[in-house]
Amino acid sequence: MITGRTRLAGVIGSPVRHSLSPVIHNAAFAAAGLDWVLVALEVVPGGAAAALAGMRAFGIAGLSVTMPHKDDVAAAVDVLDPAAAALGTANTVVLQPDGRLAGYSTDGAGFVESLHDAGVDPVGMTVAVLGAGGAARSVIDALARTGAGRIAVVNRSADRAAVAAALGGDRGFVGDSTDIAAAQLVVNATSIGMGTTDAPCDLDLINAGQIVADLVYHPLETTLLAAARACGAQAIDGLGMLVHQAALQQQLWTGVRPDPVAMRVAAERELAARALSSR
Ligand code: NDP
Repeated sequence: MITGRTRLAGVIGSPVRHSLSPVIHNAAFAAAGLDWVLVALEVVPGGAAAALAGMRAFGIAGLSVTMPHKDDVAAAVDVLDPAAAALGTANTVVLQPDGRLAGYSTDGAGFVESLHDAGVDPVGMTVAVLGAGGAARSVIDALARTGAGRIAVVNRSADRAAVAAALGGDRGFVGDSTDIAAAQLVVNATSIGMGTTDAPCDLDLINAGQIVADLVYHPLETTLLAAARACGAQAIDGLGMLVHQAALQQQLWTGVRPDPVAMRVAAERELAARALSSR
């Protein structure tokens, strides 16, 4: 029941109607008995600063930020956490009691938490990250902060690979297929496989004993993950990262650590419903 005391959060993006954030966050608010609601707010490209002004005016307690606003939000808030400052992007905004807006990046930390959930500790591991876009950069930054070993970045565009690899500090370097085959942890952070059966690398490079994580979560079982399982590697799907980055957001807004299981169940139900309705 929404009352006069209900706290409001939002997800801003363009387009934003497809966002899973309302389903995931509202499931966790309900599970925790919190009088909060999160709604999807369409904000036109270039409108992030106006949206933040609106956030202050309405007293919106927290925002989740999706494309194309992450860079603009990082530039417009009053203070950034270390990950958001390093990446120059923010996926989370908190309206602080003093009225200042704080920006955070929870994507990379959410990825690391999804590894922990799967029983994987990346400390000291050799990693191959496929891709060099926003998701790849947040993963590289978080893995380096967590203490991963050497991080090879394998990407179609070499210039973007070099920029992303630099986020790994002295552990990051531009790699190639040899590094994929040799890595203990392989992460697909390209958009290849989203809604298709394409694979982001030669599947013969994947071998037993590796851990293979895919950031793509539609479908949950990508061609890459199916190949990983088939050869005896451990497969980790992209929904864990989506859920954990959202759990970290909610903790920043409410101060309460939400139940990631309730979030994951809600997300799986929604994805299954969408798959059915698209048939
Ligand atoms: P970007 O558009 O920023 O980056 C896309 C990356 O994929 C680039 O490295 C790009 O290479 C590469 N790529 C795209 N198409 C091709 C192709 N045909 N051949 C080779 N390389 C290709 O996207 P994001 O980083 O924001 O997102 C990447 C994926 O991660 C998406 O599928 C997204 O849904 C998913 N994601 C999942 C999250 C989760 O919580 N699970 C969170 C965030 C993202 P190049 O640099 O050469 O263009």
